[in-house]
Amino acid sequence: MDAEVIVIGAGPVGGLAARQLARLGLSVLLLEDHKQVGRPVHCAGLIGIEGLHGLGVHPEKSVVINRVCGSVLHSPSGFTLTVDKGKPHAYVLHRDLLDQQIVREAEMAGAKLLLGNRVIRCQLSQSGVKLTVRKGGTKREFRANLVVDAEGISARLARQNGLPGPRKSFILRALQYEVSNVSLPTDRVHLCFDNRFAPKFFQWIIPLDAHRARVGLASAGSKVRKSLEKFLSRTPILKDAQIDKRYGGLVYSGGPSGKNVVERFIAVGDAAGQTKATSGGGVVYGGRCAIIAAASIQRALRNGRYHHKELANYDKQWRRAYGRQFNQMALLRRVINCLNNKELDKLFQVTQQSSVRELVETKGDIDQQGRLITASLTNPFLLAQLAKIFLSKVKFLPKLLWG
Ligand SMILES: Cc1cc2nc3c(=O)[nH]c(=O)nc-3n(C[C@H](O)[C@H](O)[C@H](O)COP(=O)(O)OP(=O)(O)OC[C@H]3O[C@@H](n4cnc5c(N)ncnc54)[C@H](O)[C@@H]3O)c2cc1C
Repeated sequence: MDAEVIVIGAGPVGGLAARQLARLGLSVLLLEDHKQVGRPVHCAGLIGIEGLHGLGVHPEKSVVINRVCGSVLHSPSGFTLTVDKGKPHAYVLHRDLLDQQIVREAEMAGAKLLLGNRVIRCQLSQSGVKLTVRKGGTKREFRANLVVDAEGISARLARQNGLPGPRKSFILRALQYEVSNVSLPTDRVHLCFDNRFAPKFFQWIIPLDAHRARVGLASAGSKVRKSLEKFLSRTPILKDAQIDKRYGGLVYSGGPSGKNVVERFIAVGDAAGQTKATSGGGVVYGGRCAIIAAASIQRALRNGRYHHKELANYDKQWRRAYGRQFNQMALLRRVINCLNNKELDKLFQVTQQSSVRELVETKGDIDQQGRLITASLTNPFLLAQLAKIFLSKVKFLPKLLWG
């Protein structure tokens, strides 16, 4: 064996899995396709402070660009809803540096990192796992007792091994520009909902400082570049923006996959669909599930039992801990996906009512959006207004509930 556990992918979730496994005393090999951890970047780097600290990740000074206290949500016709926590609530980070910090911590705990190694095949058998890996023009093999698949949203190896992976109809194309020559307050992000530009998702402006921001969108449509450029030219504070960097990527908004374990193989993070369906953010929840996966693996290795039943405990555990949050966020995403611009405006209008506004302000949270949904069910005014909007949507109900 080259290691007890091989982790595929040195993204944040793979890094956290490797760190946790190594801290539990297991021998870990972390294989990363790219030559540098964290590059290329595909992320807006907005991560809840409490959520990140809960993973035991305290970003170093050089990793943090900004801290924001809340967000302003915009409707297609310009209604707004502000959620302000009154103190820093989320980090804006250099994602590449964050991934590098996590992987460094994994190495310090004893994990071995190999860069430029792309896993192309993963064969599972009763005696162990055999990985075929390509490095440059050559192929070699690695063996381990178990594999953690943290390869990200493509989930190629997960599917190769019989797991469903993230649902393809909820994978959205995203594009983000880093811009300068803008002028904006630094303590709030802006999320703009408008089906003309970002159907089934939203556009975002994330301040880096008073004159620089990350501006992006994800969308079920195909013209992301055209839409983003229109957004830049139509938004007064972005009109004179100078584009310094461009990033593309895929965002997942479909909720976690039903099954993430087969014999000796566990999928985590984006590869398991463990993102917030409302915002596509996957660092905190993916990381939380990776930590649960590490505990299940340690138990399986300690007992010398690698079969599916023992490891399936992982699927049970993350569902018990976060299943409700995941489901509520997935439902909210599907509800929003059903609304046209007029209905989105109507929904924002409803939130102008003081009791609803107060509810959103007190219960709104970057990582615990389920709390807001549960609390909404106790507000009679909101319920009545939502019922009015959704009565016209009865024919969409099956799609809304089951995707
Ligand atoms: C535009 C955009 C903005 C986003 N903004 C945010 C945000 O603000 N906050 C947030 O929390 N999330 C955000 N996300 C989502 C976030 O980036 C992901 O949820 C997160 O990166 C998932 O981490 P992961 O480790 O599962 O996968 P990844 O970060 O995708 O890492 C997978 C790693 O595996 C490697 N790999 C893949 N295949 C192989 C292979 N065969 N062999 C070896 N290595 C392999 C890859 O090179 C990569 O390093 C955003 C995504 C996009 C596209």
